[in-house]
Amino acid sequence: MSTFKAPKGTYDLIPPQSATYLAVREAISAPLKNSGYGYIETPGFENVELFARGVGESTDIVTKEMYAFETKGGDQLALRPEGTASVLRAALEANLHKAGNLPVKLWYSGSYYRYERPQKGRYRHFSQVGAEAIGTEDPALDAELIILADQAYRALGLRNFRILLNSLGDKECRPVYRAALQDFLRGLELDEDTRRRVDINPLRVLDDKRETVQKQLDGAPKLRDYLCEACKAYHEQVRELLTAAGVAFEDDEKLVRGLDYYTRTTFEFVHDGLGSQSAVGGGGRYDGLSEMIGGPALPSVGWALGVDRTVLALEAEGIALDIPAATAVYAVPLGEEARRVLFGVVTELRRSGVATDFAYGGKGLKNAMKSANRSGARLALVAGERDLAEGVVQLKDLESGEQTAVALGAVAEEIRRTLG
Ligand code: ATP
Ligand code: MG
Repeated sequence: MSTFKAPKGTYDLIPPQSATYLAVREAISAPLKNSGYGYIETPGFENVELFARGVGESTDIVTKEMYAFETKGGDQLALRPEGTASVLRAALEANLHKAGNLPVKLWYSGSYYRYERPQKGRYRHFSQVGAEAIGTEDPALDAELIILADQAYRALGLRNFRILLNSLGDKECRPVYRAALQDFLRGLELDEDTRRRVDINPLRVLDDKRETVQKQLDGAPKLRDYLCEACKAYHEQVRELLTAAGVAFEDDEKLVRGLDYYTRTTFEFVHDGLGSQSAVGGGGRYDGLSEMIGGPALPSVGWALGVDRTVLALEAEGIALDIPAATAVYAVPLGEEARRVLFGVVTELRRSGVATDFAYGGKGLKNAMKSANRSGARLALVAGERDLAEGVVQLKDLESGEQTAVALGAVAEEIRRTLG
């Protein structure tokens, strides 16, 4: 071990488990790539103000969790705590919304940083795959995103997850509800922090996990009773489209995802095997965000799925992904001449797409065969002086143990044939 350890709240992805993370990212992004979403990558840090405005001054993310710093040049930056604000900023900067092809559909994958209290499923560095559909108001688009996330989780084999769905209203009906909720909350016994939250972000109080708060919330005005006709109709269409697609969901009035810019559809994916860090992903419509960061009105919807928690969900359900062995063929040279010849065969196999590895460092036969078995390879390619003198190499099937001599010139072809 070195003197150093991974910083608190972080962990390294190392083989072989790291292959699962790659496979999860791939499984989440595959349905997006197949549905018109283009890949976008933005910097790992942004102007801190983008997040203050784009995530919301009153959110935990901005007030407590952001890694903000000043550069030597005096710029105020922050490591990105989430993806939506950056992606929208980049889309606006590149004028993607002006190309006459709305919605702009984008997907991303990367690292995010939040200064949180580390615990299982909650880290200071974590990984998300996300999708945003920018510039169109259409319930089919909200439904599409939810269906694609459901498809991704199912493709991974996950079953014990649920989709929670709610509507937060729009700029017509939400303020009326907000005022009514504030009136109600101001009559409760709340600590100072929570009272401040009532002033700046009252919906977030509904999401408070503490028993003392929750039991006072019975009888709070319900958003559902305040939704305007347009929001009700919109939400009903999202629900119908999901039902028609066979995607089960639960209506959850308490689901607020308290960012000020969230409007109408909000949803969360929760997994029942994860204890208190149960959200594996979430998202919703954010019709006001573009204007909040200085852009034109661009109604949009998106989600982000947590890769780390998805991996934990797989573990909770006892699912081992079917990940092909990294190596198909392992070459074992015995002696200098064999080393030169087999290295040539290895290079040829690799160039033709066969995953091949080589016993480096002049290992003896026994050690080299151990490495071959550990690599997960189907075939070992063994050659010593005598084989070479006869113009052959030994091809050993590591599953059956069967060994055959193959002419050197024909071995690459024979391997490709055996592996199919
Ligand atoms: P939570 O309520 O658990 O804090 P959140 O609402 O802050 O989640 P989002 O901002 O919606 O989470 O992020 C989307 C997804 O990213 C979450 O559902 C979760 O899977 C993952 N995620 C968020 N924060 C973390 C973290 N600190 N560590 C690991 N995964 C995280
Ligand atoms: Mg959080």
